[in-house]
Amino acid sequence: MTTTIEGTSTAPEHVSVGDVRARRGEVVRARLAVDGLDPAHHPYVTLVGGRDAGPVVTVVAGVHGAEVSSIEAARRLAADLGGHLRRGTVALVPVANLASFFARSLYVNPLDGKNLNRVFPGRPDGTASERLAHALVENLVRPADVVLDLHGGDIVEALDPFMMAEAPPGRGENAPALELAAAFALDQVLTGHVAGSLAAAATQLGRAALLAECGQQGVVSPLAVERLAQGVLRILDRLDMLDADARPSPPPGRPVYRPGWTWMNAEHTGFWLPAPAIAVGREVTEGALLGTIQPLDLDLPPQEVRSPHDGRILFLVTALSAVAGAPLCAVARPSAPWPLEA
Ligand SMILES: [Zn+2]
Repeated sequence: MTTTIEGTSTAPEHVSVGDVRARRGEVVRARLAVDGLDPAHHPYVTLVGGRDAGPVVTVVAGVHGAEVSSIEAARRLAADLGGHLRRGTVALVPVANLASFFARSLYVNPLDGKNLNRVFPGRPDGTASERLAHALVENLVRPADVVLDLHGGDIVEALDPFMMAEAPPGRGENAPALELAAAFALDQVLTGHVAGSLAAAATQLGRAALLAECGQQGVVSPLAVERLAQGVLRILDRLDMLDADARPSPPPGRPVYRPGWTWMNAEHTGFWLPAPAIAVGREVTEGALLGTIQPLDLDLPPQEVRSPHDGRILFLVTALSAVAGAPLCAVARPSAPWPLEA
């Protein structure tokens, strides 16, 4: 059943996130109203009320509408989690950006050409992406204790699974995010700052937030879906929210820690030709040839793209077209000792 419920209850037998309210032990499906946005683009929200009081966890996917394995992981959790939550509240948004999802749009929201994950916390009177970001923050991030933002490689990206623990410059390590990463347990966790991201906005509000990336290239991968769904369940298990029959497999081990990455953007338009030895998950050394951009004028020499430091290929654009200013790949820093341990 889909219903929009107005108002927030303080009655102890109810849980609420934003304007969506559920009785304890109940599942409610609703739409998140976004002022000034066509109702067709209002995201669907599933609110799962645990039988007892406990933490509030928000799970968002589809901030990028074509990162399909992460969207399918959140859809599956939203469909199946009801009846398995012993305590606390889980709000799930499988597709935050419906316009991007149905346009199968790369990186940006077709309604305004903006990357939704660069405009958080948004504005109530801004463009479509800014209004959507604002509604997500006010209704789903602010009421939460924990915020999980699920992503993957976009339509043209191969990707080595990773998590990102948001850490604004000069603030030191984000201990709550690293704790979430240890429980979620994809292969590796990076520390860094992405201005305008959902994770950055949630962190700014003092929420424990984690970005997780798995899956690639517009393909729904059963393995990637399972890894993301299991990661979310491990967070809920870590918070002691699940019934025994819904508990996930234990973490396979602690993720490798990497203190940052470098995004490599194309400086010119042309043909992007990764070097034959380059693939996601490969270790590279400083100065290694990552690929070349052959200008459209074939009489001009190709431009070399080289690794700025030692590290590991995190994602790699697999489209033949290089677009000036758009990503080509990312090189993660070499692994380092797990932080926050003296
Ligand atoms: Zn993304």
